[in-house]
Amino acid sequence: MLGAMQDWTLRVTALIDHAAREYGSREIVSRWADGSETRTTWAGVRHDALRMTQAVRALGIAPGDRIATLAMNHHHHLISWYGAVGAGCILHTLNPRLFDDQLDYIVNHAEDRVLLFDRQWAALVERMKPRWPTITHYICFDSDEPARGFADWIGGHDGDTAWVSGDERDPCMLCYTSGTTGHPKGVLYEHRSTVLHAMMSLTLPVFALDTRSVVLPIVPMFHAASWGLPWAGAAAGAKFVYAAVNDPAVLCEVMVREAVTTGAGVPTVWLGLLQHCDQTGQPIPPSLQQVICGGSAMPRSIIARFMASGVRVAHIWGMTETSPIGSTGGETADWDDLSFDKQVAVKAMQGRAPFGVELRCVDLDDPARVLPRDGLTAGALQVRGPWVVKRYFKAAVDAADAQGWFDTGDVAVLHPDGTLQLTDRTKDVIKSGGEWISSVELENAAVGHPGVAEAAAIGIPHPKWDERPLLIVVAKPGHALTGDDLRDHLRGHVARWWIPDEVAFVDALPHTGTGKISKKDLRETFRDFRGSDSAQ
Ligand code: ADP
Repeated sequence: MLGAMQDWTLRVTALIDHAAREYGSREIVSRWADGSETRTTWAGVRHDALRMTQAVRALGIAPGDRIATLAMNHHHHLISWYGAVGAGCILHTLNPRLFDDQLDYIVNHAEDRVLLFDRQWAALVERMKPRWPTITHYICFDSDEPARGFADWIGGHDGDTAWVSGDERDPCMLCYTSGTTGHPKGVLYEHRSTVLHAMMSLTLPVFALDTRSVVLPIVPMFHAASWGLPWAGAAAGAKFVYAAVNDPAVLCEVMVREAVTTGAGVPTVWLGLLQHCDQTGQPIPPSLQQVICGGSAMPRSIIARFMASGVRVAHIWGMTETSPIGSTGGETADWDDLSFDKQVAVKAMQGRAPFGVELRCVDLDDPARVLPRDGLTAGALQVRGPWVVKRYFKAAVDAADAQGWFDTGDVAVLHPDGTLQLTDRTKDVIKSGGEWISSVELENAAVGHPGVAEAAAIGIPHPKWDERPLLIVVAKPGHALTGDDLRDHLRGHVARWWIPDEVAFVDALPHTGTGKISKKDLRETFRDFRGSDSAQ
């Protein structure tokens, strides 16, 4: 009885075939840094991607080889995603904000063969070339030298060819997690996992994409597979608007001009947009119906602001290892009965697992003990599903344990209705007198002080309590803060025993290449910290 239905291989090229066939005239708009724009369509993207597969073959690049990109968001970059996978190669998006040593490690580990890059990264590319011996071909997306750019490279081909076919479990894309510890690790997505992830992300609780959607993916295409939007958008037949610059004024301008309905970006992007609207007296672009936000926790103030303006908020949690969507803040069944404040509180949590993802929390000290979904007990968050990493690229052992669960490194509480609430990272949580203190909650409470620009909490050794929290604070200019000011402020916000005995003041906090605070560096800097906490 096995196999009574057709074999229809889940390859990502089916997504662009579908988009070109069913929504061929739906536009893809690129807005360039100089204010000019280029317009193409899904049919145009497919044709150019087919031409790219011919150009790839002409270089002697074989299926399975890695084609890297180092670029911002524009239609050429989108074409190259489909062109690389359509040639049977593995698309590898590189983050230009990483440090040289990380880019050196990642490119060599991936053994990239081709690099497609934006002219604005030309100096970086020149500097790194001697350290990237595996790359044999460099192609600039927007070269100003005649006959040297991407358009010329694919221009000599007619697109009269077919995609490379293969198994749906073949790899199609490689993304490295920069991580805050150790070397970056590569996550190798499959065609099948990518298509399933795209189908899931169209649904209402996730991206709610359809043919009427006009999407502005502000999330860079090099960040966590751009949250899968280039694949999902093709399945939906959505119009895409790309802005090659990430400036709130430009984002507002294109949102208004192209009547954008959905934007996707990290919290700082949305904060910047709201600040821009406040400064200029401009309203939130009226066409905007939905804000997709992830990468780190979405602050309540931003959620409330958008919701009060009638904009739906889709707060997503995920990581490179989960393709990246792991949960999404869809509305609960009793949504209409909730007060506005309660709705904002629900959206501030990380939502629930869509079909295809399973979540559980286990005891931080005893991972064999699965914790109840009681809304109270925090534990190590584990995840499994068809788009969750099993084994890192070139790793000998599985990243998931024997039961097939991947340890996210996040600490979370699961509520009885399945809502996920992140409380910390396992490496950052502070254990004091046998009880856990959430560094994230301490930091959030600290930045609520009007004189605090940025704050981080780490555990420092303590003879009696094992660890005590150390709060490291960057004061806003003109604010002379003391440790007592912070402690007084925190008293109303966190448990008494969480209040840090020590507060250190610094001029700046160290950040990773993806803009997160580097606790690893802070732990190193404050390894021998014994100090007093008066302001510097
Ligand atoms: P990304 O590059 O998308 O940030 P990473 O794999 O580098 O992906 O980081 C994933 C981590 O970011 C998660 O494990 C979690 O700690 C944090 N994160 C992502 N989304 C959220 C969210 N909505 N709320 C809180 N933390 C989040």
